[in-house]
Amino acid sequence: MKYYYDFHIHTALSPCGDEDMTPNNIVNMALLKELDMIAITDHNSCENVEAVMKVAQDSNLLVIPGMEIETSEEVHMVCLFPSLEAAKEMQEIVYNSLPPLKNRRDIFGRQLIVNEFEEVIGENDRLLLTATSLSVYDVVKYVASFKGATYPAHIDRNSYSIISNLGWIPEDLSINTIEISKNADFDKYMSEYCSLNIIISSDAHYLPDISEREYSIELSEKSIAKVIEALN
Ligand SMILES: [Zn+2]
Ligand SMILES: [Zn+2]
Repeated sequence: MKYYYDFHIHTALSPCGDEDMTPNNIVNMALLKELDMIAITDHNSCENVEAVMKVAQDSNLLVIPGMEIETSEEVHMVCLFPSLEAAKEMQEIVYNSLPPLKNRRDIFGRQLIVNEFEEVIGENDRLLLTATSLSVYDVVKYVASFKGATYPAHIDRNSYSIISNLGWIPEDLSINTIEISKNADFDKYMSEYCSLNIIISSDAHYLPDISEREYSIELSEKSIAKVIEALN
């Protein structure tokens, strides 16, 4: 069956994410847009994932725990996990790989942790919007050890993408999927990377940017395990 998705959504935890990107607002917008599944992928953190999952648990929306990890090469990688526990374990590795710097909220914005009742329960004071010391290979290896899926984000962009920063996708990098932005030339990427799955996600930092019911994935059943299997 075809399931409509958006696997790249930021919350108010991302300093660049709008403070309206709260768990309830995201879930309601995704339902309004009639999406079947979304992934929450904040920069180098998954601290708002649980609240989004809780808000969605009685709805038809499947929420996949995720993170957008910035590698040592300043490449953004979308990472999806089979469970919240796995995402949290990866988050520990990521936190230990970040430089010990504090967020400059005046420059980058606040990093809000919001619960399922829309209450701000804290603020992450690490500098999240920066490179970890993990290479693209490390990220692929770690995410695989948690039985997740990872793939380079927005490869058509001129910054923070694997193509802009490495020049190409290394052949020995074990990935089977790439993400392109919705404005990218799909046919071009399709012909260039015909052996890979191509995901088109919004990278939404604002509510209206969440994808419409436009991009779908073919799965035998609606589950996180099936999504990860398909992407791998
Ligand atoms: Zn990114
Ligand atoms: Zn992003």
